Amino acid sequence: MSKVIATAAISGARALVIQAEEMLEKTIAEKGGSTPFEFPDTAYYLPMIYAMTGFAVKTLSDMKAALGLAKELLHPDPEAEVWKPYLGEALDSGMATLFAEEIIMALRYVHGLEPVTDPETGYVYNGFITDTVQRNLGIQLVDGTMPGFAAVIGAAPDDDTAVKIVRELQEKNILTFLSGQVHGNSVTKQLLRKGVELGWETRIVPVGPDTEHTIYPLNWSVRASLIFGGKKPGNYREHLRYTKDRVFAFALVLGELDDTKWTTGAGAINMGYPAICDTDVPVIHPTGVCIYEEVDKEFDHDRIVQKAIEVRGLKIITEKPPIPVAYGPAFEGERIRKEDMFMEFGGARTPSFEWVRTREMEEIEDGKISVVGNNWQEKYEQGGKMPLAIVIDIAGRKMQKDFEGVIERKVHHNINEAQGVWHMGQRDINWLRISHNAKKEGFTLEHLGVINATMTHARFKSIVDKVQVTIYTDEEDVLRIQEEARKSYKERDQRLGGLVDESVDLFYSCLLCQSFAPSHVCVISPERLGLCGAYNWLDCKAAFEIDPTGGNQPIAKGDLIDARFGRYTGIDDYLVKASGGKVETLNLYTIMENPMTSCGCFESIVAIVPEANGVMVVQRGHTGMTPVGMKFSTLAGTVGGGTQNPGFMGIGRNFIISKKFLAGDGGIKRIVWMTKNLKESLKEAFDKRAAEEGAPDLLDKIADETIAEDSEKLLEFLTSAGHPALEMEPMF
Ligand code: SF4
Ligand code: ZN
Repeated sequence: MSKVIATAAISGARALVIQAEEMLEKTIAEKGGSTPFEFPDTAYYLPMIYAMTGFAVKTLSDMKAALGLAKELLHPDPEAEVWKPYLGEALDSGMATLFAEEIIMALRYVHGLEPVTDPETGYVYNGFITDTVQRNLGIQLVDGTMPGFAAVIGAAPDDDTAVKIVRELQEKNILTFLSGQVHGNSVTKQLLRKGVELGWETRIVPVGPDTEHTIYPLNWSVRASLIFGGKKPGNYREHLRYTKDRVFAFALVLGELDDTKWTTGAGAINMGYPAICDTDVPVIHPTGVCIYEEVDKEFDHDRIVQKAIEVRGLKIITEKPPIPVAYGPAFEGERIRKEDMFMEFGGARTPSFEWVRTREMEEIEDGKISVVGNNWQEKYEQGGKMPLAIVIDIAGRKMQKDFEGVIERKVHHNINEAQGVWHMGQRDINWLRISHNAKKEGFTLEHLGVINATMTHARFKSIVDKVQVTIYTDEEDVLRIQEEARKSYKERDQRLGGLVDESVDLFYSCLLCQSFAPSHVCVISPERLGLCGAYNWLDCKAAFEIDPTGGNQPIAKGDLIDARFGRYTGIDDYLVKASGGKVETLNLYTIMENPMTSCGCFESIVAIVPEANGVMVVQRGHTGMTPVGMKFSTLAGTVGGGTQNPGFMGIGRNFIISKKFLAGDGGIKRIVWMTKNLKESLKEAFDKRAAEEGAPDLLDKIADETIAEDSEKLLEFLTSAGHPALEMEPMF
């Protein structure tokens, strides 16, 4: 390893540890060592320190002990004369740096200095990244829609170059974190000056103005190993192996480096994350710690992103329709405000719908896009609003009517991924906007067809042979065809409603999360969707047709062993194989015995409340306390990692309103507490289910966070409300 880098990493670490120590001494003198501390919404204390050492920092005094651990990793500077490889020393120092930076950030939180607000622009940086974000992104990480993460540190030579680099990362669907500066300038400031929309929606997240803030994405990424990998705190080797093999992160360091950047970089190299610099740095090529090179350089800003991708070994497949605007999931979260809007459709302003329809092979022409309407071009040029029908005709030897809904649901993503085009809703309650900018780039109604034709082919390769898209813009046409579409929506709903676990022979597995949680298998039946909420039985069926060797495999149910708890021979056999022997048997309809495993990206958690003889349900993102005495983040920490945890289970939120929800334990009537958010969003379907169970006013008898956040209050409420769970047979 280069002596220059080693020296910088070693002395940089020492300086940061001293800085942390001074800050800590002052803070303890001021507030007392027993002052508690926690970062917002995490169950993992100071996550880097916790993952690497197993030490749970809960107070200022604990920070002092943790800093002691950092000190043990420090080394003296390399001697002037003697050559030695230094790598171990530099890496140790890098880890000490990460510990020190984590403590510095914690102390900054204690003093109300985080997240930072930029004094010039008023922009508020993200600060610490929560567990919720890690879980929210879970599916995108495993299904390939988000192939990796970049930490961009410093400032580009000019504003336009900053925009270009970040746009390229966006188009490659990479999540980008920004931190650090060069002489007061930074990529964050450069993007702000250029009016680029920042935030989670656009996948560009400025975490803080200094290099030290890079600890946020680092201590966030190590949580993947704790949350999804189920690796134990303190097992640093396992964590480092996990991040190297499964977390595809890298750093782009723009502009000159100082000791802090080098030593933070050394910390990141421990985790397998390489750095690519745009300055003349000494490179480190012997591989081993990272998959390929550890430090490399690329002066050409047109090539630097590509270089980083090669060095980190990322595989990126992007399908881009031939349209005049940028395209990719990173543009999905973009909003189009009224003043930026050129034209809109639907949203109760004009009649509008989208419809996928199965046709015979000879009835349609592949790739044909037509826009039908009197003078539609002139009307479009005027802007404002217009009626719209998007009719997507599909033919394919393996096409089935059941797939229409699956394909139609992707229309939302297809359209939203175009920069400057926005889509909401579905079927005949959709709503679209086209921005002035997109119009200026040459986006027309034909492109709505082009996008859907290209992406439908790309996403559904082996079930779709031909796609033809027709766009109607005259109100009479739209209204007339909408009637047909509505008939078809209704038929689909009826068919779906009739799909029950008993009526099919095959369930499906989802193994996507195994790339993060190797023993986790979602078993998806018609009445139970995957716990991330993103895949139901029909989705899996379609996915299997598309890719027979992919992450969704059919499971022959086999013989029914236990009707009440939902146990089948075929599922047990399959699980043993698919989980590598970690899961031997599964009960689909109970939480009490061999329930489904949880990976980490569950939408909600069900947990028993023994005192109330029932269960509670809390959704991801709820930050308040629950009556079992744990917040979502803590609960989630005990449930994930691909294990079975009787009494606790991650679920997709729509499972709550399934007839099979805890059917073996007494079903929906077991719910004694549920967040307001869940109550409100599920109300209609919930009331219907409750009525079927003979308890039409059940929802009013279920407590939420405004009624009780501890079990005592909860019991009081349940008793006075006469909740049925109190009368049901004991859960155990
Ligand atoms: Fe992961 Fe299950 Fe969702 Fe598949 S269905 S992505 S395995 S949580
Ligand atoms: Zn998952």
